[in-house]
Amino acid sequence: MNTSYDYIITGAGCAGMSVLMRMMQDDFFANKKILVIDAAAKNTNDRTWCFWEQQPGVFESIVFHRWNQLVFHSNGFSVAAPLAPYQYKMIRGIDLYNRVQELAATRPLITWKTEQVLCITHSNGIATVQLASGNVTAPFVVNSILFKETSKSANQSGAYHLLQHFKGWLIETSQDCFQPDMATFMDFRVSQQAGTTFVYVLPVSKRKALVEYTLFSGDLLSAEAYDEALRSYIEQYITRDSYTIEHTEWGVIPMTNHRFTQQAGPVRYIGTAGGQVKASSGFAFQFIQKKADEMIQSMKGGTIYSSVASFSAKKFRLYDSVLLNVLSNERMAGDQIFTALFRKNLVQRIFRFLDNQSSLGDDFSIMTSVPTRVFLPAALQEML
Ligand SMILES: Cc1cc2nc3c(=O)[nH]c(=O)nc-3n(C[C@H](O)[C@H](O)[C@H](O)COP(=O)(O)OP(=O)(O)OC[C@H]3O[C@@H](n4cnc5c(N)ncnc54)[C@H](O)[C@@H]3O)c2cc1C
Repeated sequence: MNTSYDYIITGAGCAGMSVLMRMMQDDFFANKKILVIDAAAKNTNDRTWCFWEQQPGVFESIVFHRWNQLVFHSNGFSVAAPLAPYQYKMIRGIDLYNRVQELAATRPLITWKTEQVLCITHSNGIATVQLASGNVTAPFVVNSILFKETSKSANQSGAYHLLQHFKGWLIETSQDCFQPDMATFMDFRVSQQAGTTFVYVLPVSKRKALVEYTLFSGDLLSAEAYDEALRSYIEQYITRDSYTIEHTEWGVIPMTNHRFTQQAGPVRYIGTAGGQVKASSGFAFQFIQKKADEMIQSMKGGTIYSSVASFSAKKFRLYDSVLLNVLSNERMAGDQIFTALFRKNLVQRIFRFLDNQSSLGDDFSIMTSVPTRVFLPAALQEML
């Protein structure tokens, strides 16, 4: 068996496949031997990604649905807003996996292995990926497998460890209930007792929508609690008539300001394992795309990828830490924070802020939307 490759991609989920897609679109990699390893066959629709962007992205052809308007609700406040120049887009996991695997199947130099990675080591600039079937090596490994780094036992001082956990149902109603051009970004009109809790509703037709019950908190709920909350939300806000559940989605994402390893010798990290999940929102898809672009450029330049801690990166890391501080220490409830943001800012500004692309003027406007007496002490604590 061949055991040495030019590149090995360990973990072929969103991040691994986003890097592979770009490699297949670039002649630089046309004659390179690439091995892709994932424990799973990646043939199920295990998640749905939603994100906003202004221009078509690398996966534009598989965008499943898009919205031009968003609505936000909390108790006593609702706003519907046009998104231009943005669109809010949905990509289904299965469509991305199929698209990348179909393309890879036409490339003889790309090998796919369905096997668990036991660990990755490196020495003298060569990485060794350990598998039960034998070791494989490469001078470049793109890793998106989250080994144990972020567990609370590996806690870094000052790191917060909230979880974003959610359950979603793709439902089909018996009557027209949805506006296919309008997504509910956050609906906080649900109990906030277990932590910051909201529902988002993503209609893909007048009768079909993904309804997702989402929490930011330290602990998961019982399996029944998510189902009960979904049932009750649908009955109260969508329909009292019958509906069918076509698909179920469940997930947990770390919301942490833990400093993730970016690189260990020839091993570079991306995805959740590389810290691309935004600590304060859980959005990751677009951060992964950006990092995949940067990684490809650095591979082509022949230099080892190293993420530079720019002023901007530090600024947004501080903002994320402040929000985690406020939520973790229960200084202010999450529904009140998001309501204050949506009450006083256009959604486009909020998008720029959540994208880590806001200007200082945007930052000022966002900061003055929330109470100084709550956020200033948290900011001072995070800066010291
Ligand atoms: C249900 C769900 C919905 C989400 N929705 C959104 C969203 O709408 N918008 C957004 O921006 N973000 C969303 N996220 C967050 C983020 O975009 C996703 O988690 C994204 O899939 C992260 O990409 P990744 O490649 O890091 O991880 P994954 O996509 O999880 O890929 C990791 C891969 O590693 C493999 N693997 C793990 N361990 C091993 C091992 N030891 N050996 C071999 N293979 C292994 C897994 O099988 C998997 O294929 C969502 C997350 C979840 C869980």
